[in-house]
Amino acid sequence: MSTLEIKDLHVSVATDDGAKEILKGVDLTVRTGETHAIMGPNGSGKSTLAYAVAGHPKYEITSGSVTLDGQDILEMTVDERARAGLFLAMQYPVEVPGVSMSNFLRSAATAVRGEAPKLRTWVKEVKGAMSDLDIASDFAERSVNEGFSGGEKKRHEVLQLALLKPKFAVLDETDSGLDVDALRVVSEGVNRYRAGGETGVLLITHYTRILQHITPDRVHVFAGGRVVESGGPELADELEKNGYVRFTGGKAEAA
Ligand code: ADP
Ligand code: MG
Ligand code: MG
Repeated sequence: MSTLEIKDLHVSVATDDGAKEILKGVDLTVRTGETHAIMGPNGSGKSTLAYAVAGHPKYEITSGSVTLDGQDILEMTVDERARAGLFLAMQYPVEVPGVSMSNFLRSAATAVRGEAPKLRTWVKEVKGAMSDLDIASDFAERSVNEGFSGGEKKRHEVLQLALLKPKFAVLDETDSGLDVDALRVVSEGVNRYRAGGETGVLLITHYTRILQHITPDRVHVFAGGRVVESGGPELADELEKNGYVRFTGGKAEAA
């Protein structure tokens, strides 16, 4: 079993008016075999948490720690984080003209596995994973993320998950930009990935709809840059009914 542990994480972002503290002491522990949902209003800092763990240079860790089985993730380069078994969708380039998806995925797999996958088995692997996710076969020849719709980007994320098999995946708003059918296919992909029980998932979302397809073990409410309440799946049902008002002092959006 592996453990991803976030302890009292404080993160600032550089703005025109100087550094602004966004994360104000996040505590969270995820073990392999568990799926945790982080739910919170817009602007509460959910994506900032994902970016900070991914090592995005714009986000400065001012205190606290993130460790994977005791190893300091924050000291690692983005590639080292991937090799350690961490998957963060946004650590990958947004658009890479001229690099085909199949080449991109093979380099990513090479980086994670430490050796290039054999070409013949790799092609089979990619084809199988694409067909599981209802991804058209010409997708492999397209440039990375170039002209991808919101739904295609999300399918691409889950395709990477299926092929790279990380220990921990941080998925930010995986439900956004997906119609009902795509949401089902993408959710099935995430469920397949976690079915083996050897992976941990941190599912970040504003809405409860993806949680009707992916049942979390734990639900954390995120507001004002920290986890303000944790519970089981029933907490998501309460949020579905009452929204976040109880956690934001009556305001619809958190400051
Ligand atoms: P969420 O994902 O929960 O909607 P974010 O993490 O995107 O929240 O944003 C939290 C707060 O941090 C917001 O007030 C947002 O304006 C601010 N913020 C996030 N990233 C940046 C950035 N790169 N530059 C300036 N402000 C930012
Ligand atoms: Mg603190
Ligand atoms: Mg966000």
